[in-house]
Amino acid sequence: MKPYPETNKAPGASMYASAEKIYPREMKGRFDKLSKLATIILLGLFYVVPWLTWDERQAVLFDLPARKFYLLGLTLWPQDFPYLAMLLIIAALSLFFFTALLGRVWCGFACPQTVWTEAFIWMEQWTEGTRSQRMKLDKAPWSWNKLRRKGSKQFLWVTFSLWTGFTFVGYFVPVRELGPELLTFSAGGWATFWTLFYGFATYGNAGYMREQVCKYMCPYARFQSAMFDKDTLIISYDEKRGEPRGSRKRGADPDKLELGHCIDCTLCVQVCPTGIDIREGLQYECIACAACIDACDSVMDKMNYPRGLVTSMATRTPIILDVIRDRNFLFRELPGGEIENMYTLKVINQRNDARNFRLDVEGVPGIELEGVAEIVAVDGGGVLSLPVRARAPAGSAYGIMDISFTVTDVDDPSVTMTEDSRFLGPTP
Ligand code: SF4
Ligand code: SF4
Repeated sequence: MKPYPETNKAPGASMYASAEKIYPREMKGRFDKLSKLATIILLGLFYVVPWLTWDERQAVLFDLPARKFYLLGLTLWPQDFPYLAMLLIIAALSLFFFTALLGRVWCGFACPQTVWTEAFIWMEQWTEGTRSQRMKLDKAPWSWNKLRRKGSKQFLWVTFSLWTGFTFVGYFVPVRELGPELLTFSAGGWATFWTLFYGFATYGNAGYMREQVCKYMCPYARFQSAMFDKDTLIISYDEKRGEPRGSRKRGADPDKLELGHCIDCTLCVQVCPTGIDIREGLQYECIACAACIDACDSVMDKMNYPRGLVTSMATRTPIILDVIRDRNFLFRELPGGEIENMYTLKVINQRNDARNFRLDVEGVPGIELEGVAEIVAVDGGGVLSLPVRARAPAGSAYGIMDISFTVTDVDDPSVTMTEDSRFLGPTP
C-alpha cells in the first residue's frame, strides 16, 4: 500500500508553489472612476479626521488611558459602553444587509485592504509605469533605471506606510503632540511600537500580499456567500452570449463565423486584481471590483457589439417564483398509470404593471402541468397563488426525482425564473 497519494511531482520535489505575481492592467471606465472616488474619499477621511478640532480638542480621539472616547461633541465614558456596542452591532448588521443586497460591494470599493492596495498600485504605476513596463522591469537585470524606479517606489511606499501608522495612532494619542514626539524619539514605547507595526502591516498587505489577503486571510470572504440569495448583485459573464469565444477581425459578423461575442482578448483577466478569469464562472476570489466590466465594455465598444458581456446583475429579475410541495400527499397513481404530485406555485410580479406569465415544468420525460392555464396573468405588484398538479406519463417516474418549474414573462422572455423541487413516484 502506498503511504501517500500519487502525484505527478518528481520524488522529493517540493509540494509548495509560490503565488505568481499579478500585474493588474490599468483600465479606464465608469467603475474605475467610482473606485478612484471611493479611494480618495475614504483615505481622505482617514488621514484628515484626526486633525479636526471640536471645542478646542481633537474632534475624534479614543483616549484609552483616560477611558474616554471623544466623537465630535459627544464624550463616551466606560458606562456608555452599551451605546458603543450598539453602534458596532448596527455597523455589522448594515454590512450584512448591503452584502445581501449588493454582493461584495464592500470588498470591491470600501474595504481598507482594497483602498490601500489601490493607492499602492497608483504609486507603482507612477514610478514603474504601465503593466507591460512593470513586467519588463521585473524581468530586466539590475541597472540604474531599475534601481531608480524601484527605489522611488519603495520611498513612496515606506513614507506612505509610516504616515498611515502615525495617523492610526493619532486616533488614540493626540495627533498634534504625537508628531513632534516621534520625530524627537520622545514618544512612549507603545505609541512608537503601534506606529511602526501599523505602518509595516500597511506596507506588507497593500504592497506585497494584496489579493492573497482576500484569498487566504480574510474571514469575511469565507462566509459572505451565506448572505447571498438569488437577487444579490454579482458580476458574471453572459456565457450564452459570449460562447463560443474566438478572435476575429473588427467588423466581422459573429453569426457568420458561428462565434459568440467574446473575442477572447483576455483583457478582463489582465485587469483583474485577483488574477481570475470571470468567464469560468463565479469564483470566491472575485471581489466585485467591476474592473472586468470596464475592460469588456471597452472591447465591445471597439467591436460595435452591445455592452454588458461581463455584466453586473443590476437588472434584478422582477419576478419571484416559490414552489411549495404538498407534504400531506406523496403521490397519486392514476388508473392509466400516470403519476401526479401536488404543488402550490406562488408567482410574484415585482413590476408595477400587470404581466402574463408562461408556466413550465421539466425534469421527468413527458411531465406536464395540470389544473392550471399555460399562461397566467398577475397584477402589478401582485402575488398569485396557484395549486397545480404535475403529471408524469406511466412508467416515467420512480423514486425521488429532481424537477424544475419555470415562469417566463410572455412579452419579455429574458425575464424568467426557475425553481427546483422534487417529484415522487413509486419505488422502482
Ligand atoms: S473577476 Fe472582475 S469583478 Fe471579480 S475581482 Fe476580477 S476584475 Fe474584479
Ligand atoms: S474582455 Fe470581454 S471579449 Fe475580451 S476576453 Fe474578456 S469577456 Fe471576452
